[in-house]
Amino acid sequence: MVRINHELAQELRIDADWLNSAEAVQVFSGNEVAAGSDPIAQAYAGHQFGHFVPQLGDGRAILLGEVIDLHGQRRDIALKGSGRTAFSRGGDGKCALGPAIREYLVSEAVHALGVPTTRALAVVTTGEIVRRDEPLAGAVFTRIAASHLRVGTFAYFAAREDHHSLRSLLHYAVSRHGGTDAFGLLRQTIQRQASLIAHWMSLGFIHGVMNTDNCSISGETIDFGPCAFMDTFHPSCVFSAIDRGGRYAWARQPEMAQWNMARLAESLMPLLAEENENAHAEAEAAISEFGGLFQQCFTERLAAKLGILNDASAPSLITESLRLMAQQHCDFSLFFLTLTDLADHGDPASWLKLFHDPSSANEWLAKWRELHPQAALMRKANPVLIPRNHQVERAIQDGYRGNFSTFHRLADAWRNPWTPAAEYLDLCAPPTPDEVVRQTFCGT
Ligand code: AMP
Ligand code: MG
Repeated sequence: MVRINHELAQELRIDADWLNSAEAVQVFSGNEVAAGSDPIAQAYAGHQFGHFVPQLGDGRAILLGEVIDLHGQRRDIALKGSGRTAFSRGGDGKCALGPAIREYLVSEAVHALGVPTTRALAVVTTGEIVRRDEPLAGAVFTRIAASHLRVGTFAYFAAREDHHSLRSLLHYAVSRHGGTDAFGLLRQTIQRQASLIAHWMSLGFIHGVMNTDNCSISGETIDFGPCAFMDTFHPSCVFSAIDRGGRYAWARQPEMAQWNMARLAESLMPLLAEENENAHAEAEAAISEFGGLFQQCFTERLAAKLGILNDASAPSLITESLRLMAQQHCDFSLFFLTLTDLADHGDPASWLKLFHDPSSANEWLAKWRELHPQAALMRKANPVLIPRNHQVERAIQDGYRGNFSTFHRLADAWRNPWTPAAEYLDLCAPPTPDEVVRQTFCGT
């Protein structure tokens, strides 16, 4: 057992003594099935980088079952990396330690930052060697989700023209995530995704593989593969080694989420058509609202980060701030954090240090000051810590050497990114030039 998330376990009403037992290690490594659990691998399809694959499914994940948490919410408990399933195709169904550490750290940090996400309950090592480009230590990751229903789950049954199963799936999704009918589910998913992507972007998060099989109906962030938080801002920033065309770059995420919503509407079309005789036009109208919904959420979040009211002048100042950051290669998080300090005590020195050319920064600053920014608003929108990629990478490399202290330290620090303890303030610093990690690799 490398790490257990005790706080989350409590929320899930998992017995604390049992967590420390030998049986728990057996269950979280997939060696034993807990009493009452009836594991399944789920089928789904997916558009991978735009190309439809009619059958993907849980190839390295397995759903152990569901629990009702302290808040009365139904949550999935799933293992990642416990071995082959019916959907493994040529894969080994396993997971290397690195991707398990990355998913634990980043998903828990994303949660602490307030963004809807699947959670991390445990990481265990298996003692096995997993063969990737090189032999690596194996691990099993335990993921908690509001559900594992994806856009691709609907696409799976739609592609087979299995309308009976599609209808069952709709009823299940509605009973689990609210809504009334197929149109309700579509509109709700569009709203959730628009809000989610705006939230990601406001923190500099790049998901990396927004394929329809990695797009959750619940609106949670799911599948932390080659994801990363940006250091230096650029709208076309990409980390994923496999995303050569920049399909899932920071600034393209809304467009790609909208594209995914169009695929959801297509999959639901047989059911939408039963509900509404203008189903096509209505679905198109719902999808075309995505841009506006996203823009509203994004402007609200960015305005808060700048400490200004979301009024008529906000959008142009937001655009100018992004342009300024890109031109001057500013660190995204530090731009907002030092600006918050500036709003607090008035000294622009540490903010100005982020710029090569202080004259354009000063020009922007004058416009910003005219809008009477409020430091209190900014504190709540600008975290002190984000899970920086080079730090995640260090935890992974140390982990492969059998040293988990970096992993534990980061996991502890990122539980509170808003008001971290003094001992964690060093984590605020961006990478030095030789520490920068520009590429991430998915877990496959
Ligand atoms: P992902 O990159 O996690 O979105 O995975 C895409 C698809 O590949 C999913 O169907 C996974 O289950 C499958 N997959 C990824 N890695 C493996 C593996 N090591 N063994 C079997 N299937 C895998
Ligand atoms: Mg996936």
